[in-house]
Amino acid sequence: MYWTVGLLYLFVDMTGRPGFLLKFKIQEPYTRISKSECLDLIGQVLFNQTVVMMPLFYLIARAFEWRQFPTGQLPSLARIVADYIVFLIVDEIVFYYTHRLLHYGPLYRLIHKRHHRWQAPVAMSSFYCHPIEHIFVNIMPVVMGPFLMNSHILTQWIWFGAVIFVTLGDHSGYHFPCMISTEYHDYHHLKFNQNFGSIGLLDWIHGTNNEFYKSIAYKRDRVFMSCQPIKQLYPDESQTNNNNNTKNFKNH
Ligand SMILES: [Zn+2]
Ligand SMILES: [Zn+2]
Repeated sequence: MYWTVGLLYLFVDMTGRPGFLLKFKIQEPYTRISKSECLDLIGQVLFNQTVVMMPLFYLIARAFEWRQFPTGQLPSLARIVADYIVFLIVDEIVFYYTHRLLHYGPLYRLIHKRHHRWQAPVAMSSFYCHPIEHIFVNIMPVVMGPFLMNSHILTQWIWFGAVIFVTLGDHSGYHFPCMISTEYHDYHHLKFNQNFGSIGLLDWIHGTNNEFYKSIAYKRDRVFMSCQPIKQLYPDESQTNNNNNTKNFKNH
């Protein structure tokens, strides 16, 4: 899931083709990824996926075996839905607090700064981070839900696949029609001190998305069904006013 979808996004970001997709970019101006940025990106991701994740996944697999997770008869739909509700809540709690902790000064400089190297994120930058961040912020929040619920392996496969697909989209910098909104985490990369969580519940409780609520990104944070990009459906009036003010100023 990561490489198939990630490489498709990377192709668009390196070549600027197909051009009609670029109008769905969230942040402007659009800049292509250079070769050196691409090599840096792939190098860090491969390191995290091999040196960091392989031993970690070995340990996680042993832990799941110890839990004796079911692999036989398929779970009922009600059980799958209940599992996903718990996964979402556990993910929100663990992701929010570990992520917010990494925004604390020294920890930020030592660990999280690497991930925020992408102010306008690209899909594969979802795994571009310090190994410690990868373990505690990317992997643990996603794995803890299935471990607690002792979920069926099918439920786990769908969950892990969906999470990777969504996080690639969240970092892609594109907001496409008919797809889940990607504005929320993009705004975190843009503003840095807003939107620490994934579903917004803890940000709402702690007031860490107040600025986001007032922003144009909040209005655009929805699924839309149009060939027009959402930034045209919900134009940034403050930007338009600024441009008009600048024009008026020039006219004077
Ligand atoms: Zn962050
Ligand atoms: Zn991110």
